[in-house]
Amino acid sequence: MNLADFNTVEKLLTHAGFSFKKSLGQNFIVDPTVCPEMAAAALDENTGALEIGPGIGVLTAELARVAKKVVSIELDERLKPILKKTLAEFDNCEVVFGDAMKLDLKALIAEKFSDCKRVVVCANLPYYITSPIIMGLLEAKLPLHSIVVMVQKEAGERLCARVGSRESGAVTVAANYYAESEILFDVGRDSFMPPPKVDSVVIRLKIRENPPVKVNSEADFFKLVKACFAQRRKTLSNTVSNSLGIEKEKIGAALQKLGLSPTVRSEQLTMEELAGLCNELF
Ligand code: SAM
Repeated sequence: MNLADFNTVEKLLTHAGFSFKKSLGQNFIVDPTVCPEMAAAALDENTGALEIGPGIGVLTAELARVAKKVVSIELDERLKPILKKTLAEFDNCEVVFGDAMKLDLKALIAEKFSDCKRVVVCANLPYYITSPIIMGLLEAKLPLHSIVVMVQKEAGERLCARVGSRESGAVTVAANYYAESEILFDVGRDSFMPPPKVDSVVIRLKIRENPPVKVNSEADFFKLVKACFAQRRKTLSNTVSNSLGIEKEKIGAALQKLGLSPTVRSEQLTMEELAGLCNELF
């Protein structure tokens, strides 16, 4: 069965009486080039693939063709009979029904992938939870090699921006702290059924063995980063002072020590400068 063919998918879904739930971010891929390209970028035959949101299994099938093992987490139980049919030919994949935001992924990875050399997350993410899922995966320090995911174009550009550039934000700094990120390729809105209102990109986050900067406390670092980007139109000094209640004089002195202007904006700081500021302030 060609799961990326529009007519095949339409027939399959009509036959099952399936209707799309917008609230679950259900836009299914109907473009034959996208999923093989994602699988090739993410996996080899020794890899275990953790997928979030298999839908009707179009990416799952491509992952199963390449990976040692695939485990897919799907929230919508209405997809159970469809997935049973579409994935019947693969004996190396399993679908777990549950909420990817709530499941204990560390335990799941330990249980399911002990025979795999490395584990990657590969998914076409539901867009309403892109950031919490990616940040949750990174912050939980799961034993992952990389994360190859399709996300809304704007979110992907922000995640993969250079820290210290206009496009960067708190999520850029967090992603960069845990991983090396890159945009792999674009996917237009017409590649989906139903087509969403925005275009997408596939990105890869390769998990770092060690963070690129040394901070005295990760909790303080992320607290500071969040405060830095809370009010983008204000200077760093103003937004950090407003958000964290630190006196402006103290922030000014820390900026001066780092050789930075008192009117610098958060988006102008590099990872090293943000880490330096954190270590000065806390
Ligand atoms: N992988 C399929 C594809 O590329 O065609 C479907 C991708 S669709 C963008 C997102 C999928 O995630 C849907 O199947 C949706 O039901 C599922 N989903 C939404 N929220 C979820 C959650 N919290 N946990 C697991 N799956 C979820």
